[in-house]
Amino acid sequence: MTDAASADILIDTDVCQGLGYCERVAAEIFHVDDDLGVAVAPDLVTGADSARAAVAAEELCPTRAISLRLHMA
Ligand code: SF4
Repeated sequence: MTDAASADILIDTDVCQGLGYCERVAAEIFHVDDDLGVAVAPDLVTGADSARAAVAAEELCPTRAISLRLHMA
């Protein structure tokens, strides 16, 4: 759970396995690119709901490929 208002998102494509857990929990943010075989996401999402969804994906990612920087305001 987070009270963040926005989040910077970085996906480490060297460790992402394209497993799609992030997409399942936050489809509005994460998408597994079939050609690249890895997840893609915007560099920044805004709004508390989006920040919470990004955190949920980060916590679920089995390879720890997702890094977030949360902004409280
Ligand atoms: S859950 Fe993690 S490993 Fe799986 S596609 Fe998303 S970022 Fe990549």
